[in-house]
Amino acid sequence: MTIDLRSDTVTRPTAAMRAAMAAAEVGDDVFGDDPTVNALQDRIAAMLGKEAALFVPSGTQSNLCGLMAHCQRGEEYLVGQMAHTYRWEGGGAAVLGSIQPQPLPNQDDGTITLADIEANIKPDDAHHPQTRLLALENTWSGKVLPMAYLEAATALARSRGLATHLDGARLFNAAVAMTAGDGGEAHAAARAIASHFDSVSVCFSKGLGAPVGSALVGSKALITRAHRTRKMLGGGMRQAGVLAAAALHALEHHIDRLADDHANARRLAEGLKGLPGVRCQMPQTNILFVDLAPDRAHGAVERLREAGMLCTGLYRLRLVTHLDVNADDIEHAIAALRRIL
Ligand SMILES: *Cc1c(COP(=O)(O)O)cnc(C)c1O
Repeated sequence: MTIDLRSDTVTRPTAAMRAAMAAAEVGDDVFGDDPTVNALQDRIAAMLGKEAALFVPSGTQSNLCGLMAHCQRGEEYLVGQMAHTYRWEGGGAAVLGSIQPQPLPNQDDGTITLADIEANIKPDDAHHPQTRLLALENTWSGKVLPMAYLEAATALARSRGLATHLDGARLFNAAVAMTAGDGGEAHAAARAIASHFDSVSVCFSKGLGAPVGSALVGSKALITRAHRTRKMLGGGMRQAGVLAAAALHALEHHIDRLADDHANARRLAEGLKGLPGVRCQMPQTNILFVDLAPDRAHGAVERLREAGMLCTGLYRLRLVTHLDVNADDIEHAIAALRRIL
């Protein structure tokens, strides 16, 4: 048996999710005819308190559609140095959108300081690109950005005429962590986070356990622009209701249970306490980073793999809990980690 903690993207659709996919009513979504895609878009827009939503194949495409809906060629967005939209999306904003990133330092808690934001909004001068957008990420490396920060940073951006985008790939992990997993409360928290932003991207294919798909939410006008970009990027899908059904099932059944993933990540951290040369912070959500002294790090990932536990990293291991690992698996993982580290 292998316990796969490389990412929360490795989950396979559950039997109930597959049944929902098999039963989905479908149509050609490029004609707007797929009732299940339309239902998903209506549902996620309503959940996050926005006018409209767009179902897309990936979080990368969702973010890019969002960035391109906000920024024109030669304009600029402010973004974290370690943000996914800057560092892990192949430079798509620059390559495909001709949008210039202005990367800014991420603090340890994932925030970008208000002073850095303020100081990097360019004056209206022909020498500069025009700063149009502030893009934040939540959760960031598994950390939940404080609500007061989201409020302050987006208020600052708005006061200077900037739009705001949230890469909320793991938005529901943040919402569940903020509310200790209480169902209705987590929905309200997700909506409260989204309320600060003009656009939000969420992934169904991470902790929510769907095989494919993300959504971009925002105003009708923004989603109309994003829809055009999605087509241009090759993201117009046909009978996509089969996939949308999985996402709808995930929204219905897999949000509250994210609290289990968070508890499993904390249990992992506790299980590593006291090991020499091994340090980790208590995780806030489903991602645990484990720092290894150089003498422990060498070959650790390979030896863990041989012991039946997959993870990524080198001096800093990344362990991600998800729908397909249960509390027993976590105990096995702890045993393997203690043996090998
Ligand atoms: C995974 C991820 C994305 C991109 O999603 P893909 O579906 O893999 O393209 C964007 N942002 C963050 C923070 C992510 O973790």
